[in-house]
Amino acid sequence: MDLEDCSDMKENRSETVMMETQCPFCGKVFDYPMCTEIIIPGDSKLKKKVLNKTLFVPKCPHCNEEFKLKPKCMYRNETKREWFVVTDSKDGELENVMKGGDLKFNDVRAEENIVDFMKGLYTRRVVYNVDAFREKILLSEYNFDDRIIELMKFSLSGLIEKDSHTHVYRIFLEESSGNDMIFTAILGSHAPFEYATIKSDLSTYNQYRTKYLKKLGNPNEDEYITTDQEWAAKTGLLKDEDAGFVVPMQG
Ligand SMILES: [Zn+2]
Repeated sequence: MDLEDCSDMKENRSETVMMETQCPFCGKVFDYPMCTEIIIPGDSKLKKKVLNKTLFVPKCPHCNEEFKLKPKCMYRNETKREWFVVTDSKDGELENVMKGGDLKFNDVRAEENIVDFMKGLYTRRVVYNVDAFREKILLSEYNFDDRIIELMKFSLSGLIEKDSHTHVYRIFLEESSGNDMIFTAILGSHAPFEYATIKSDLSTYNQYRTKYLKKLGNPNEDEYITTDQEWAAKTGLLKDEDAGFVVPMQG
């Protein structure tokens, strides 16, 4: 991506900072305008760029290769009251900050009244990579409950691992249209990874939702701040299912 991609932000309220980035292909360093804040309503163009996977994917000006950044960015949807943060630091500090509602996030600008209205009122999530960040926003667009999706993916992962004898490194909802839900699984324990596309359908999501939503609390509670595959495992909810409360696989 080039500078022009971030130019919309001047018209909106989003912050951008120049960040030094090292190209993993040629090793050269260049400055890249990092979008650190996406606020809806207002920044719908930026949201689209996250969804179509162009926002955090710079092209190296030296060797022209594209690569995925490890961004620090805050997404806030004021209409839906959602607050998603992607960060590369896994020390849990940010999670605590989110629980307290007191956001001081390096380059991310916090508003003065953020403490009052964030805590308890917003559905807050912390994620650690661009794919997960995109997925949270995507799930919000589709009005899917991300906790139900994590449970579904957990079950799906188990089936894939059993079937292919390969470790599922990550799995994400890629898109959904009509009755189809398309997941991407990244397979393997280390690079180079393989990618697999798995189809499921909406009725499975609805089945999961009916069965498990009543066992979960309000999505804006602190315990759901890191809703991911680890969380899904920890709930133990799928533990007693027979070898599958099975996701129909067509792909
Ligand atoms: Zn390069």
